[in-house]
Amino acid sequence: MHDHRKLGRELGLFDTDPLIGAGLPYWLPDGAIVRHTLEEYIRDAERRAGYRHVYSPVLGKRELYEISGHWSHYSDDMFPPMDLGSEQVVLRPSLCPHHAVIYRSRSRSYRELPLRMAELGGMYRSEPSGVLGGLTRVRAIQLNDAHIFCTLDQVAEEARAALEMIRRAYGALGIDAARYRLSLPGPGGKYVAAPEMWERATVLLTEVLDRSGVAYEAAEGEAAFYGPKIDIQVADGAGRESTLSTVQVDFHQPRQFDLHYIGADGARHRPVMVHRSIIGSVERAVAHLIERHGGAFPAWLAPTQVVILPITEDELPDAAALARRCAELGLRAEVAGPGRGSLGARVREARLVPYQAVIGAKEAATGEVALRLRDGRRLDPRPAADALARIGALVRSRSTDLWDAAVA
Ligand SMILES: [Zn+2]
Repeated sequence: MHDHRKLGRELGLFDTDPLIGAGLPYWLPDGAIVRHTLEEYIRDAERRAGYRHVYSPVLGKRELYEISGHWSHYSDDMFPPMDLGSEQVVLRPSLCPHHAVIYRSRSRSYRELPLRMAELGGMYRSEPSGVLGGLTRVRAIQLNDAHIFCTLDQVAEEARAALEMIRRAYGALGIDAARYRLSLPGPGGKYVAAPEMWERATVLLTEVLDRSGVAYEAAEGEAAFYGPKIDIQVADGAGRESTLSTVQVDFHQPRQFDLHYIGADGARHRPVMVHRSIIGSVERAVAHLIERHGGAFPAWLAPTQVVILPITEDELPDAAALARRCAELGLRAEVAGPGRGSLGARVREARLVPYQAVIGAKEAATGEVALRLRDGRRLDPRPAADALARIGALVRSRSTDLWDAAVA
């Protein structure tokens, strides 16, 4: 596997600058396309799965985190508070407290549950400068987050559905889970003390894992401070694991924020909070994608999806016309004309682009293109409209297959 820091710079995806600061990367246009496309995939998958999206601010009063428990259990990872007159505000270390407050902003009925609240939102972690690097250890994080407020009876099904979303996302992204981990508390950690709550949450997650049929390992000392979790680990080239996706069961924050819903019996009941993330932080997900694919992203994620290669200057108008047709179909295309070198040199330069459309005198005369695929395959010349329709369908289906997948 490749080093995403080196490749990310070479491919113009992201960079850092000492003046902005360590652990605060910025995204260049091609990297921004990958990120935006990934975020849209997640929002679309969540909408289809019944999630509703919200926006909440990246700052909150210190008191919010005192209630959530972050202040007493997690402050080592938080930036110091900022004084604002008589109060203090902090950069948030997680989105959960904001979502809990949004939940309780109105009265909730059992008919609204499970209430699935999602946000791709910013959060901050005061990482020591020694561990910062590339996109994997950063101080400003964009998190794919969601909180499902539900009854105890609904927890297992919600957790199962989240695992299924994760499985599908890994398929579309062409990545593999290295390991499923049941993350439990360990000795000496800062955990909220409520033994029967931990016990209940652990039993629930164990049942979900057992029923899902995946192999998993239990690991002590890896739980969140408020509860156990299922973590899905991915590995880098050196075999180092990190957590990409997670499903957590939390009885603590609903109690801290005094959340409730009105049950069928007309009485107040406490909901459970399921925290889940499909791809974790956008930064870490893109770092893993860069390394896993060596920059050759699945076609639907690729910054440039089609490179158009006119053999001589004579085919430039046809190449430009084809680029316009790509744009109309929502495909990201670029013309690499003879001014950029021999055909061989231009093909090499475009080696990470999934589709290379070559137009010579014959193709220009017949309205055809000769397609080369990134994996080296060369297809017979075909009508340009057919080729683009096929590419469009493959991209829309978010296939990792460049040509042969069955798509509508
Ligand atoms: Zn959360």
